[in-house]
Amino acid sequence: MSDNYDVIVIGAGPAGYVSAIRCAQLGMKTACIDNWINDKGKSSLGGTCLNVGCIPSKALLQSSELFEQANKSFPQHGIKLGSVELDLKAMMARKNKIVSELTGGISALFKANKIKSIEGTAKLLADKKVEVICGAEKTVYSAQSIVIACGSSSIELVNAPLSEDLIVDSTGALAFDAVPEKIGVIGAGIIGLELGSVWRRLGASVTVLEAQDVFIPIADKQIARDALRAYKKQGLDIRLNARLLSTEIKTINKRKQVEVTYQDEKGDQREVFDKLIVAVGRKPNTDYIFDDEAELILDERGFIHVNDQCETSQPGVYAIGDVVRGPMLAHKGSEEGMMVAELIAGKYASINYDLIPAVIYTHPELAWVGKTEQQLNAAGENYKIGVFPFVASGRAKAQGDTSGMVKILSQGETDRILGVHIVGSHASELIAQAVIAMELGASAEDIALTIFAHPSLSEALHEAALAVDNRAIHIMQKK
Ligand code: FAD
Ligand code: NAD
Repeated sequence: MSDNYDVIVIGAGPAGYVSAIRCAQLGMKTACIDNWINDKGKSSLGGTCLNVGCIPSKALLQSSELFEQANKSFPQHGIKLGSVELDLKAMMARKNKIVSELTGGISALFKANKIKSIEGTAKLLADKKVEVICGAEKTVYSAQSIVIACGSSSIELVNAPLSEDLIVDSTGALAFDAVPEKIGVIGAGIIGLELGSVWRRLGASVTVLEAQDVFIPIADKQIARDALRAYKKQGLDIRLNARLLSTEIKTINKRKQVEVTYQDEKGDQREVFDKLIVAVGRKPNTDYIFDDEAELILDERGFIHVNDQCETSQPGVYAIGDVVRGPMLAHKGSEEGMMVAELIAGKYASINYDLIPAVIYTHPELAWVGKTEQQLNAAGENYKIGVFPFVASGRAKAQGDTSGMVKILSQGETDRILGVHIVGSHASELIAQAVIAMELGASAEDIALTIFAHPSLSEALHEAALAVDNRAIHIMQKK
């Protein structure tokens, strides 16, 4: 194969590998360059998402949820297991197997689609040339179009530098070899809540220190409030308005531990943890990605500047996924990857950035799409609200899991759905119905007139739509 391609994709995460596959499907000669090396020293496709992100975290969330259910919920169902024992080694092995099957699956898909997989670190040069360094070898490739999908990395804090397996980022927190007694988490964002939940369920005492005084500010306030109540009830110790001052590794009772000092409204506080997880956001990987001559523009936060079609300041050079503006979510990057493949092939494509669903995979799960109530208020929008709590759902009762609610916000005059917010079991699955409805421009009335299977959790969406017009059946409505 020559070193000239129709498309070169840099990065094989969910943005890059999806883009490469779609480019190949559209008949373009495609190469994908990736530099991910796993903990066995082997290259591994799939980026952050498959190797150390979405997939391993969900594997551990599932296992730890089952462990907690076996301990706490099974007896309520009349199932006696005797003592339930944790085999963390087996749990981690299961997670690792899932990761290696899925990452191996991407290699197989690349082969099946005749995509040239190139191992190494790429740098964009002028004139759509790409230099790749792999060990001592340096090769230059060129293409008609370039797609940059080099992703993001954890933000490090100067006052909590990663250290000695005691202060770790999300990757470290997915691989503890024993359940720590006391874990501190810096940041009550999505990673802090998901990984904090995993280790709490497995028996750790978890304290989450969050600098802001608002809990999950991107979520609808009512949903976030409900979730906070549930997490606290479970024993997650979430402290808002807690600004980290310093960390120090100390040997206490012959054990290395992390001393954390932080400030809250009462003054300076001190806590000692066995492990500290730093989860304060992620930053785009743009340090090495292009040569000065390639002249790409970065925005003020270091993301590659792109237009709505993900084209950079250089014609024919696109950037997608975590390295550009917008939520850092795998499905957002994948959709951008599909869009740019279509555009490169000369087809029409666009993305509705207003309808990207967000999910937090804790228990209860949080999921939402569209506008929050606070955003509608800020915009002076006239809106109606319909809420239905899972406690009134027959299916939720049968499952023994009645926490949470579905909340629908619709436009005051047209009734068009503006936002759907769910806190509860299987919210990640339920939200897809709302996304489809909103994509099709549905009104709350459209959902109210739709027949839902009984008994199902989805009926809560139906009832919330009925509640928009004050006519939910299974809860009292205002006269
Ligand atoms: P990445 O997945 O980061 O992939 C970029 C790839 O490019 C990597 O393989 C990298 O090695 C490679 N690369 C970088 N620079 C170069 C270079 N110069 N040359 C060659 N290769 C290069 N999102 C969700 O939607 N749902 C979730 O449940 C979810 N859970 C998460 C859990 C955790 C713990 C973390 C950390 C993240 C999670 N995310 C989740 C976020 C999700 O992982 C990212 O949004 C997604 O991986 C971004 O995809 P990407 O393709 O843009 O970048
Ligand atoms: P985040 O932006 O979700 O949360 C970071 C939190 O840390 C914020 O609440 C912030 O106020 C807080 N913070 C920042 N600096 C702090 C400090 N010095 N002290 C205390 N708190 C501080 O970031 P994250 O949780 O690291 O996740 C990174 C990205 O990964 C997210 O943007 C998300 O898009 C993605 N992700 C998604 C999922 C999912 O879709 N389920 C799961 C995990 C990660």
